[in-house]
Amino acid sequence: MERISIATPVFRGNEKKYLNECIDTGWVSANGRFVNEFQKQFADFCGSKYALACSNGTVTLHLALIALGIKPGDEVIMPTFTYIATANAVKMVGATPVFVDSDPETWNVDPAKIEEAITHKTKAIIPVHVYGMSCDMTKIMEISEKYKIPVIEDAAEAHGAKWNGKRVGSMGAIGSFSFFGNKIITCGEGGMLVTDDEDLYNTMKLYRSQGVDPSAKRYWHLVSGYNYRMTNMQAAIGLGQLEDIEWHIAQRRRVAATYTKLFREELDGYVQLQRVDDPESHVYWMNCIVLTDRVSKERDQVMAEMEERNIEMRPFFYPMHVMPPFEDKTAHFPIAERLGSRGINLPSHAGMDDEKIEYVVQNLKDIIIG
Ligand SMILES: *Cc1c(COP(=O)(O)O)cnc(C)c1O
Repeated sequence: MERISIATPVFRGNEKKYLNECIDTGWVSANGRFVNEFQKQFADFCGSKYALACSNGTVTLHLALIALGIKPGDEVIMPTFTYIATANAVKMVGATPVFVDSDPETWNVDPAKIEEAITHKTKAIIPVHVYGMSCDMTKIMEISEKYKIPVIEDAAEAHGAKWNGKRVGSMGAIGSFSFFGNKIITCGEGGMLVTDDEDLYNTMKLYRSQGVDPSAKRYWHLVSGYNYRMTNMQAAIGLGQLEDIEWHIAQRRRVAATYTKLFREELDGYVQLQRVDDPESHVYWMNCIVLTDRVSKERDQVMAEMEERNIEMRPFFYPMHVMPPFEDKTAHFPIAERLGSRGINLPSHAGMDDEKIEYVVQNLKDIIIG
């Protein structure tokens, strides 16, 4: 069997045609029809009024925090169990990330823990839709409204997932997405912000492009901003992918359904799967298992033996509070720590046919149970 990778992008729509159009017409930089079209169609897809294309899904979070006026001394509540970009963005505005633990079954941030962590310094909450599954946005938005603290949804892993019929990204004040090569859809590197609030949109747009005054004379700048723009070439690929997103999501759900069935049949009691209450809430960025206490081998040993069999594995994220940039030796978040030491990401892309999925599960079974 050839090597099975964790993630491989699939381009089967207009991506190449649109990219060629950029090169043929010379519209390769941040102006051009694809940026506008990608923004418009992404806003429609999410059910949001505005969308703003950016260079990646970290600077999108930076712009969102700037637009909400988050500054040094402010606290921003987020899960400790996330990809580090969420926490790094908070550092970029000089604010303090306040970490909270996850739910043991959904692995998403625990809303009750968010509420406990609120102080008079809390100025934003960033829920992360981990591995492609929506957080409990009903409870999180209730907390947001009760304490008048805005929510930035980090939806970098969950394009298209729904909570009670609404797309992730469209429920908080601002939603943030990534189009890195392994995400639900990609444009190489890229990011998108969505919002219904015109003022937030205008501020994010201002800072995205060096603070240039959109209505005044050329080279007249209102604030010191950034260059966080997306190129027309990225948007060309992104638009081609977005036109095909329902297929991408359907493939990921197909792969997940097969894994879930096989794990229940073959490794029941040995692996914990993410609890999914509503099939619409999950787009399965990653298929995941957490090794239970019945597995005597260390997680890293299991992964190394799978690698020897040419099957790529990834560990779950390490919690923020255990890593050098955000280390807090007094903090203890047992759920996130267990996930970080026992969790494994499995090959999850659209190219995973039944044969490959069975091969992954059989090899895992062989290594775990023998
Ligand atoms: C991928 C990711 C990001 C950052 O995206 P980039 O485009 O790589 O900068 C942010 N948050 C989460 C949760 C992610 O998974």
